[in-house]
Amino acid sequence: MTSHKINLCWILTVLMLSSCGKDPDLGTSPSSSVYDVRISPLTNLIVGIGNTISFSATPVDSSNQPLTVGIEWSVLNPTIVSIDGNGVVTSLKTGTTPIIAKAGNQEATALVEVWDAPPLDTYTSGETYQGRNGYVEYIPGDLPLILSAPHGGNICPDEIVDRTYGSIGSCSSTGSDTNTDPLTRTVRNAFLQATGRAPHIIILKLARPKLDANRDVTEAAQGNLFAKNTWSEYHGFIDVAKDTISKEFGFGLYMDMHGHGHSVPRIELGYLLSKTDLQTINLDLTYMINKSSVKRLASVSGIDFTDLIRGPQSIGGLLEQLGIRAVPSDPDPAPVGDEKFFSGGYSTRRHGSRDGGLIDGIQFEHHFTGLRDMPSSRLLYANVLVQVLRTFLDVHYGWSIPAS
Ligand SMILES: [Zn+2]
Repeated sequence: MTSHKINLCWILTVLMLSSCGKDPDLGTSPSSSVYDVRISPLTNLIVGIGNTISFSATPVDSSNQPLTVGIEWSVLNPTIVSIDGNGVVTSLKTGTTPIIAKAGNQEATALVEVWDAPPLDTYTSGETYQGRNGYVEYIPGDLPLILSAPHGGNICPDEIVDRTYGSIGSCSSTGSDTNTDPLTRTVRNAFLQATGRAPHIIILKLARPKLDANRDVTEAAQGNLFAKNTWSEYHGFIDVAKDTISKEFGFGLYMDMHGHGHSVPRIELGYLLSKTDLQTINLDLTYMINKSSVKRLASVSGIDFTDLIRGPQSIGGLLEQLGIRAVPSDPDPAPVGDEKFFSGGYSTRRHGSRDGGLIDGIQFEHHFTGLRDMPSSRLLYANVLVQVLRTFLDVHYGWSIPAS
């Protein structure tokens, strides 16, 4: 909050508007007894044009007691927003402007930003689209595949205060998710090289202390309006990709790309099936299918659910055949003992098919060495993943990538 005040004082100084230094008011009328004006909030964001938000302002006397003095609202740049007599601001175009609340001979300012995102129906495969301030990047593709990377970002802007609970992470290191951003881009490039076609990718570039996009918005953004907007953009881009794929193909696979630091170096595949679930001998049970993020595929593919999750032609089984350890798979059906395992988080629940829709989902948790530690290992793994996903699409969805 201190930095906001300094910024506002600076803005006011620049604008030659006086309100930071307070002269004792010697008058006796209510308006001349105004000592200060409290405005709230100090910053605000309006997404889209023609939308409104409200500011409030309270004049106070030198004892900080509220006064019943009218507020006169104005805006410095009236091409960006308009403001009415009650502090209700309406967005007109993208930009940032101070708004001013005046009472007596005192005034206070706040900043309002308007962000008008590009329309959602103009995305072209291979182009790069960014959300506000470049915190999210979306590169549309033309395959029925979507990859998202929520934890590989390292941007730490001052406008977003650090999160205080949950997995907070660090601004100086991406921790166990290191290199999941370049890994995701490498997989996209490997598909392009091999097939001439690309998956959709969505990458969060904010560091985890600022936003954890693999959580519900409450824990993800912890009340910060800029973080909340970025969360909406991130999941909005995934929704755009899902809609595009659903219309074009009628099916699709969403993969949430992560890195783990668990002791066993193997890919952990999260289908929303827990370690205990996977330790069940036979997974072909209705309740197992219904809780999984590949519920739709399980109901249309005709393959036994156990085989779909960990048979030789499951994602894990295909990875193992190409020399990459994965659980669940036929050689490694379930974590055992005290082995740790990630079964899938918010994005896998939201964007997979457990709760409906045409897109199945899997959380990919990658170990570090040999998969994502160096460019050469990322390329090696990306080429394996291209083969695995090609086969998986063919076998389970009955769809082959056309020759380019
Ligand atoms: Zn992660």
